Amino acid sequence: MSDEKTQNIKGIIKYSIYFYVILFFLTFIPSSDLYFMKYAVSLLLLCHILLLYIIVFPVFKYTHYFYLSGGLVNLFFFRDIFTKFSPVEFYYLIVYYIILFSTFYFKKILQRVRVFDTIRNVAPRLKPLIEARFEIESKVSSLRNENLDLEYHKKNINKIYNQIKLINSTLQLKDMMELSKNILVDVIGLDNFVFYIKDKEEGYSRFLEHNISHEMQQYLQIFLRKKGDKFFDKITSYVKFAIEPEEVLSNLSNINIFPLILKEEILGMLLQYEDKRGKVDETIINNTKIVIRYISMGIKKAMLYNKVQELSQRDGLTLLYLRRTFNGFLEDEFLRAKRYKSKLSLIIFDIDLFKKLNDKYGHLFGDKVLAGIAGIILESIKDPLTASRYGGEEFIVTCPNMNKAQAYELADEIRKKVEKFKFNYNGNSVKTTISGGVAEFSVSMKNGSVLLKNTDDNLYKAKNSGRNKICK
Ligand code: GH3
Ligand code: MG
Ligand code: MG
Repeated sequence: MSDEKTQNIKGIIKYSIYFYVILFFLTFIPSSDLYFMKYAVSLLLLCHILLLYIIVFPVFKYTHYFYLSGGLVNLFFFRDIFTKFSPVEFYYLIVYYIILFSTFYFKKILQRVRVFDTIRNVAPRLKPLIEARFEIESKVSSLRNENLDLEYHKKNINKIYNQIKLINSTLQLKDMMELSKNILVDVIGLDNFVFYIKDKEEGYSRFLEHNISHEMQQYLQIFLRKKGDKFFDKITSYVKFAIEPEEVLSNLSNINIFPLILKEEILGMLLQYEDKRGKVDETIINNTKIVIRYISMGIKKAMLYNKVQELSQRDGLTLLYLRRTFNGFLEDEFLRAKRYKSKLSLIIFDIDLFKKLNDKYGHLFGDKVLAGIAGIILESIKDPLTASRYGGEEFIVTCPNMNKAQAYELADEIRKKVEKFKFNYNGNSVKTTISGGVAEFSVSMKNGSVLLKNTDDNLYKAKNSGRNKICK
């Protein structure tokens, strides 16, 4: 007999004995006066089962089906047991059938036992395979987790990109920055920050902020002053600055600097502080780095748009506002002065004997003089004053919050500057003069045209009284 078969038979005997022991005790349940009978029946059952499991089932393949059907036939013949059998006989008959039916399942249990035995035998050889499988399973599960993470990030990034599209929905710098702020706060989760926008002449100026503590406000002032614009101009990628403990008596620990940069041009920066409560999450930093690129593009676009807008309102030769833009200014300022009873004055300049100058030196030189005088006017005024080219060689300066005397002073200052200015014509210096009229708003005036007419009348006076002068 092969080894395997011996193993099988041994297994069958072993589990048959377990099974029998259970059944044996089951047969002892009825009353004690039937002890010997029960014993005899139990013994009989034992032999019966041994016979079944050792010889019959292993050798003949389908015997247990015959047994089962035999039992069912028997049941048919003993169908009158309910009337003929005593309770004890009835009990044993039931036990007999239980054994019979359970053999059917027992066979299956044995088959499993054999499988377990086989596994135990081959287990040492399977061990590395099983371990490898466990390893693969754990890798698969960690990959699944990573996949979930990636899914999460993908969703997050999609959300960010959908919001970023909004940045492009406006060309107004202010609106664009408000949208950027919403993205940083609501989507990225940046809890505090301040934007600085860089102006070529004025350097970095604070533009928009969110949740900046009073302490940080103070520290930023010191920090920016101490470091200076040149320092920030060198920051071309994200950096984290540790705040020295002795620098401030505060909770602040680090400053994150995200430069707003586009094609090597620094447009500004985003500053964010970390306090002693903890650092900003790495994901937030990374997402901010992504968003900041789009914000930079948005800023550049808005700046260019502003420039185009501004230029479209200005005259190409002199860079002063166009006449139609001036008309708007005059209307607005007039209404404002009327509503708030504030001061408003106008200055109008006209180049003296310009036709002659054109005739003598040519139109090209005339243009040069026009641009030069416009430059002198521009450098002499500042916000909220505006300068416009009103006619061919006439300029108007609107002076909100200025009375006639103040406007006159300014006009005369400009007149003197022009008078002194030497225009270069083929190596020779050419001088010219301007005349001006000044008038002031009064509440009795119906509209801006009245003020303009008064100003023009005063210019006329200046022209008629010898030129190179201002009349008010
Ligand atoms: P007045 O002192 O009385 O103002 O004498 P004027 O010669 O300046 O007289 P007026 O103001 O009427 O002259 C306008 C001249 O300005 C006419 C024209 O030749 C010149 N002009 C107007 N626009 C331009 C321009 O864009 N370029 C040049 N080169 N000349 C211009
Ligand atoms: Mg004129
Ligand atoms: Mg003139």
